[in-house]
Amino acid sequence: MANTLQDRLLAELADPGARRAAVAHAEAYLAAALGRAVAPGAEAMARLARFDEPLPARGLDALAIVERLAADGAPATMAQLGGRFFGLVNGSSLPAAIAARWLADTWDQNAVFRQVAPVAAKLEDVAERWLVDLLKLPEGTRAGFVSGTTAANVCGLAAARQHLLARQGWDLNAKGLRGAPPIRIVAGRHAHASQLKALALLGFGTETIEWIDVDDQGRAIADRAPALDRTCLLVLQAGNVNSGAFDPFASLCRRAREMDAWVHIDGAFGLWATASPKLAHLMAGAELADSWSADAHKTLNSPYDCGIVLCRHPHALAAAMEASAAYLVPGREREPSTYTPEMSRRARGIDVWACLLSLGREGAAELVELLHERARSFAAQIRSAGFQVLNDVVFNQVVVGCGDERQRDALLGAIQSSGECWVGGSTWFGRPVVRVSICSWATTEQDVSRSVAAFVAARGGNR
Ligand SMILES: *Cc1c(COP(=O)(O)O)cnc(C)c1O
Repeated sequence: MANTLQDRLLAELADPGARRAAVAHAEAYLAAALGRAVAPGAEAMARLARFDEPLPARGLDALAIVERLAADGAPATMAQLGGRFFGLVNGSSLPAAIAARWLADTWDQNAVFRQVAPVAAKLEDVAERWLVDLLKLPEGTRAGFVSGTTAANVCGLAAARQHLLARQGWDLNAKGLRGAPPIRIVAGRHAHASQLKALALLGFGTETIEWIDVDDQGRAIADRAPALDRTCLLVLQAGNVNSGAFDPFASLCRRAREMDAWVHIDGAFGLWATASPKLAHLMAGAELADSWSADAHKTLNSPYDCGIVLCRHPHALAAAMEASAAYLVPGREREPSTYTPEMSRRARGIDVWACLLSLGREGAAELVELLHERARSFAAQIRSAGFQVLNDVVFNQVVVGCGDERQRDALLGAIQSSGECWVGGSTWFGRPVVRVSICSWATTEQDVSRSVAAFVAARGGNR
């Protein structure tokens, strides 16, 4: 008889029942993931109300919790693991990464220091080395494993701020921002919301940004950039969130180099283009930047909560993330928390390691090219069906024009509720559009045709 909480928990640890049930439910979910309706139906959504209950006085046992989650939670998921979810810029998950995550989560490692999480630290070392190699970044570039690109942008821009102030004789960690020498922020007019959020978190308001005009694909126009100097922080992007376009890195990074300005590139989904010999031209010159951010949970198809900041000035990044306390005793080797804002965190490097090991160099190229080919096919088919494609499909994004806002919203609603695929809306140079982001390893040609058919059916129903 379990008397105390501890007795009960010890009994649950000894009994594999709940974990076996979780695996069985997960397996059933995976088996259905590719074929099911993409968005949850009304019944599944209504069932979420069952979670609205007061916190019970006595806790439930582990098996009962797993069963409730499977019964009422699983149906209200979006089928992101499948091949027909094209909203935001979301990846699926590679099978090896799902499995590795299950195992590593069970280990419950705190990737703060090597001493307390040796395997987490080791696999971060390896993942960092592989990333720098695959993405052709300068030797000595360091990686911080963070929650996503928003966090990675904060880290990269914080490193920039640290560096640009330090060389004007300003110790930011000691003196703070008040009275600090000015930093000029320069960014393309289509800078992603997360870049602006990161800048705001760091004390740089949007009114202080010197904007660079963009071309019809949303790329910063190099000739429109202001004169740069050594107080400048130039924020560029590899992958416009609507069109997928890449800023002209070669000219802008070279100019920044000459003037000793810092360049940060947000490459949430686009940084991975370098992995493909066919698409690496999009990234030409990006290796001249100072910091980069990327999401493993997008193009690389890792499970969520997996972003990476990369920086060629390890001291600037480490100084920006600095923490010291008597009980924190970092060793001499690379310490995971040196390059991240968090101290305690899960061992994200393991996800990245598993993805890269699952793909290999050739698989990484093939995955990136697959996403690109599917996007091109989507664009060709949707155009044949009479829709307008408003962007050059250089990577994985397709911007579809479909009338005014009312028509667009009606089309979106009909597509989303069909369960055939899921796409979201956006605005492209003032026009309401549907954006299609192909990010899942699982998207087949058949998924593309089926999704285009869903657009056609939705339009028919709205006429
Ligand atoms: C998704 C995205 C982000 C934000 O990344 P999160 O992982 O959601 O924090 C930033 N920039 C671009 C270009 C993106 O596509």
